[in-house]
Amino acid sequence: MRVPFVDYPAHFNALGQEFKDMVNDVLFVRADLILRDDLVEFERDFARFLGSKFAVGLNNCTDALFLSLKAAGIGAGHEVVTVAHTFIATVASIVHVGATPVLCDIGDDDLMDTSLLESLVTPRTKAILPVHLNGRICDMDAVMAVARKHNLLVIEDAAQALGGTCKGKKAGAIGLAGCFSFYPAKLLGAAGDAGMMVTDDEELARKVRLLRDHGRLNKANDFAFFGYNSRLDNIQAAMLNFKLKRLPGWLERRRAIARVYDEGLRDLPLRIPVGPEADNQRYDVYQNYAIHSERRDELVAFLKEKGVETLISWPKPLHHNESLNLNFELPRTDELCRRIVSLPMNTEIDDAQVHYVVECIREFYRAAPLAAGSSSASART
Ligand SMILES: *Cc1c(COP(=O)(O)O)cnc(C)c1O
Repeated sequence: MRVPFVDYPAHFNALGQEFKDMVNDVLFVRADLILRDDLVEFERDFARFLGSKFAVGLNNCTDALFLSLKAAGIGAGHEVVTVAHTFIATVASIVHVGATPVLCDIGDDDLMDTSLLESLVTPRTKAILPVHLNGRICDMDAVMAVARKHNLLVIEDAAQALGGTCKGKKAGAIGLAGCFSFYPAKLLGAAGDAGMMVTDDEELARKVRLLRDHGRLNKANDFAFFGYNSRLDNIQAAMLNFKLKRLPGWLERRRAIARVYDEGLRDLPLRIPVGPEADNQRYDVYQNYAIHSERRDELVAFLKEKGVETLISWPKPLHHNESLNLNFELPRTDELCRRIVSLPMNTEIDDAQVHYVVECIREFYRAAPLAAGSSSASART
């Protein structure tokens, strides 16, 4: 049996003739390409889905983060607190506005350890940039409390958590702004790159809208400032809005797969994700189902032999790239990078494939239950 980590052909084919007819209408009948009605409708529906007042479609989430920070007035001389256990885009957005990233270590849920936050705040700190990784919202009560106390802005990297909630609040709709990615493998994927920022702040939305389109105020060539070109393509918006209506069902499917993994792996010598049942206040959406194994590299090789694709998102901690000049000691992030691996989690695999993955992992631990420890040493070399 083969269990793919992602299966784009299957995904797009499952959207059916209705999807092809829609694409045909936008491209071949109307040829509506830049800043057209499909984008306006997607922004409206996306904002409604999140319960946010405004949504601004952008080229990608990297730009959503960058332009949100910029529009919020963050720049040279400011510090922004975020994590190293994230995609480089999070930290790059801070660097690109001229600010300094300050990296926080992670806690038991692999997300920002909010108990460390206050110790990282200095007079230069202007914002916190929490990352909701693998479909789970980080402790936003704690983030917002520190932000209020020290008068900091909060911009959420919700690239991996669209539709996830905590205490009824949606990821990306809690801080000043939330940023989303529609990279093809994300929970809601485009046919290429795309992103979005959401906010309840009308002025911030207005600024990001201007920034994405060269600061252009009108067709008469009036410009507010030098901006960028970061518009979300109309055709991508049309496809994304078509898919948005199916998103709740897809999230349910991901959660069902996660329950099968939970039940099948719980008793093995590995760590399954901190699930929603830990506090019953969250709706986790499992962008990834990431386990920790002390024998990670052996397990990955074993699963590959069995036809099961896995993903180690970030094998090398970001702050270990000397060229990036991120000089932070983050022991828990380092440890996690040696142990974490994501299992197949997509809406195209069926129950038999999910059970097969569980069986393969159980077989791995049955075959050599006592070799623990040997691989964590070799993984460090
Ligand atoms: C994917 C991702 C991004 C970047 O999104 P792009 O749309 O590819 O720019 C940023 N942060 C996190 C956590 C991501 O997973």
